[in-house]
Amino acid sequence: MKIQDIQAIQLLLSTPKKIAIIPHRGPDGDAMGSTLALYHFLIKNNHQPVVVSPNEFPDFLAWMPGSETVKIFEKDKENCTKILEEAELIFTLDFNALHRTGEMEYVLEKLTAPFIMIDHHQKPDDYAAVTYSDTSFGSTCEMIYNFISFLGKKEDIDKTIGTCIYTGILTDSGSFRFPKTTGNTHRIVAELIDLGVENTEIPTLLFDNSGFERLQLLGRALQNMKVITEHKTAYTTLTQEELNFFNYVKGDTEGIVNYGLSIKGIHFAAIFIENKEEKIIKISFRSQGEFDVNQFARDHFQGGGHRNAAGGKSELTMQETIQKFEDLVMKTSL
Ligand code: 5GP
Ligand code: MN
Repeated sequence: MKIQDIQAIQLLLSTPKKIAIIPHRGPDGDAMGSTLALYHFLIKNNHQPVVVSPNEFPDFLAWMPGSETVKIFEKDKENCTKILEEAELIFTLDFNALHRTGEMEYVLEKLTAPFIMIDHHQKPDDYAAVTYSDTSFGSTCEMIYNFISFLGKKEDIDKTIGTCIYTGILTDSGSFRFPKTTGNTHRIVAELIDLGVENTEIPTLLFDNSGFERLQLLGRALQNMKVITEHKTAYTTLTQEELNFFNYVKGDTEGIVNYGLSIKGIHFAAIFIENKEEKIIKISFRSQGEFDVNQFARDHFQGGGHRNAAGGKSELTMQETIQKFEDLVMKTSL
């Protein structure tokens, strides 16, 4: 971060303020971890923060400290709009463009309070008074740790804040496996463990908390998988009917896309999930190595993300979407 940006934020935070903290739509472990870590930090510093999420967060994150205070825009637009309009400062975390908040974008656009963006996605939009954006980080949570340190407040990081930070680092690094996991990541985690963060309990809360139906849904997705060996690609689908059959709840499809990459020789994986209510096919892409799924998602599926993990959507039918995807894969050298 630039020194003048740090000073500007120190000045903004030198008097108690009403502050809104916003994750992206469909908040994941990193989005929830970073917003809640900042929430606890700001409370400690006598501010009045509120986390306003565009929509509901998945059940497997409900144990996180402070999650019970999170306001859900989609469920209570009137109250959430009021909170946003009254905020004197707005943090947007773990996303790079206001449209990532869905409908909330139209409220955010009209606000006059200054925005601070902290994020690790490529190509950040230019809406914030201060943009702390760096794609070399594996998670926004790791950046929050730095952000608090830059403000000279590292001593404020306690077990509660550390638990939130640890959660985002763990989930966004694929349990410390993805390429952006560095020595620094592990040094931060070591410090968090020393603060009492339950580093072996948290993975259990996150990953060993499924219902049987979630496992059966995974089984269906694995059975639906198609492998295009010569293009090092594997993809799978889940229709709305299949989701309904297994009583899908938010979060159930998290991580399924990664199974494609576990096949020897596969470097590109995708999952296509039908959402009848939103009339879209939601897509997740993952790659191993050089193939840039962020660019692929941007070019063809109205999306984006990172080089090795991105998402997008399609307004075609499932069949048409798959046809489009297969045609593209055939033209892509992997
Ligand atoms: P996931 O596949 O886990 O939903 O998302 C993987 C990464 O891509 C995350 O960093 C996420 O923020 C980003 N991403 C997912 N969907 C979209 C999308 O529709 N648009 C953009 N710009 N990024 C997305
Ligand atoms: Mn993230």
